[in-house]
Amino acid sequence: MKGSGKGGRTELTDSAWQYAPAPQEREIVTIAPSYGLFVNGEFAPAADERTFATINPASEEPLAEVALAGEADVDRAVRAARTAFDKVWGPMPGAQRAKYIYRIARIIAERAREFAVLESLDNGKPIKESRDVDVPLASAHFFYYAGWADKLEYAGFGLGARPRPIGVAGQVIPWNFPLLMAAWKLAPALAAGNTCVLKPAETTPLTALLLAEVCQQAGLPEGVVNIVTGAGDTGAAVVAHPGVDKVAFTGSTEVGKQILRSAAGTGKKLTMELGGKAANVVFEDAPLEAAVEGIVNGIFFNQGHVCCAGSRLLVQESVADILLDRLRRRLGTLRLGDPLDKNTDIGAINSREQLDKIRDLSAAGEAEGAQRWSPPCQLPERGYWFPPTVFTGVSPAHQIAREEIFGPVLSVLTFRTPEEAVAKANNTPYGLSAGVWTEKGSRILWLTQRLRAGVVWANTYNRFDPASPFGGYRESGFGREGGRHGLEAYLDA
Ligand code: NAP
Ligand code: MG
Repeated sequence: MKGSGKGGRTELTDSAWQYAPAPQEREIVTIAPSYGLFVNGEFAPAADERTFATINPASEEPLAEVALAGEADVDRAVRAARTAFDKVWGPMPGAQRAKYIYRIARIIAERAREFAVLESLDNGKPIKESRDVDVPLASAHFFYYAGWADKLEYAGFGLGARPRPIGVAGQVIPWNFPLLMAAWKLAPALAAGNTCVLKPAETTPLTALLLAEVCQQAGLPEGVVNIVTGAGDTGAAVVAHPGVDKVAFTGSTEVGKQILRSAAGTGKKLTMELGGKAANVVFEDAPLEAAVEGIVNGIFFNQGHVCCAGSRLLVQESVADILLDRLRRRLGTLRLGDPLDKNTDIGAINSREQLDKIRDLSAAGEAEGAQRWSPPCQLPERGYWFPPTVFTGVSPAHQIAREEIFGPVLSVLTFRTPEEAVAKANNTPYGLSAGVWTEKGSRILWLTQRLRAGVVWANTYNRFDPASPFGGYRESGFGREGGRHGLEAYLDA
């Protein structure tokens, strides 16, 4: 708090009230200058010794050099996974597998702050989120699926069913929740008795490599989890490898379609978790203050780098003005900046490429005639930043109403009747998630029956629990992750 002395008095102005810096110390994590691939229980350089750099998007500072896996490395990883599946992990009793998975869950929890700091450094997300959401949920996923490992016969496949693991799983994940997506992939696969070759995103490999270290620490038998770092070509090599029995992909719809083409006719089992363009529907009887918080959480959580983000706000016309007023006021209080400051609400955009995409789509929104608004907000000079942005006057035909922006950009549309809300909400090729805000339980049920989305949140948004299945329809993909349903993807029942 600062005051300005004036005639012996101290006057306080609005702008005088400042948050003190609340830095999370960075020393808890040690980043090595370089990292190898994690294959057969050991870290080793790529066969051709190629590497790439990973940076901190908030400062553009290089963090480490990471091995770039080529086809030979992927082949070695798949062979290691096959041997581990045949000799160790496949035959191991479920209760025994569970002990390793529990151990991984516990170690993640014990090293939580280290994971959180590393995630915020490599990804740019606020420490508040990596600390309170990503890391605890990742640990919870391993805890949850550990519990299933010795109960697969009771997982709902029918009386007397003896579900069996599929074999080697090739898993490719995006950069928006690097550790959490790794947990979503590995935990159910391991519980079901499969072995894994996981490819993290190029811009965020570090927490997956720390997780590899945790696997070592947990004494996980060699070859059960293999982590091959690299870019799109490495991912393509994993999914195309003939030794992979099951492909699990989370990423863009475009790459998902490429993978489907490459896997066609191979007999590989597939799950696809792809993009989204969710409607967050606010009715006139909704608790507006709560709805404002839900809208903010829906689109500004993780800089909007969220597949299920509530990127289209559909608000009933009668309350649109008052809701937007309150929303703008709330956005004025969001704090953008250093991801390692514990007060930061909005961190950095993950990469230059993603920033360019957000800028282009926002420019398209303006060019198509929508009105753009952002709160006064100073962007740091270095790093990749984009202010929270709201577009009003958006029509369903606008690009910003149709395409996934994957950034902190909200498109606002209005509706008059519930039927119109349904029609507008479903007017998208995606079908991953949606939100509904209303006081009436009957209206929630009426709407959720009509929304074509894998997950619908009522009077809340972006709630996750390992016991709850998640996944999409149409161009958002198929298959479910999480809960009992998440096991099905890794079992032949
Ligand atoms: P992306 O470009 O599709 O990348 C996802 C992963 O696939 C990355 O590891 C990427 O490697 C790799 N990859 C790229 N080309 C590949 C290819 N030809 N074959 C195999 N793998 C390949 O997606 P992104 O831009 O990183 O992530 C954002 C997208 O993911 C958004 O559309 C979002 O909606 C979606 N997403 C969906 C969910 C869900 O659960 N439905 C969750 C999170 C994100 P590199 O990045 O290293 O090049
Ligand atoms: Mg990075």
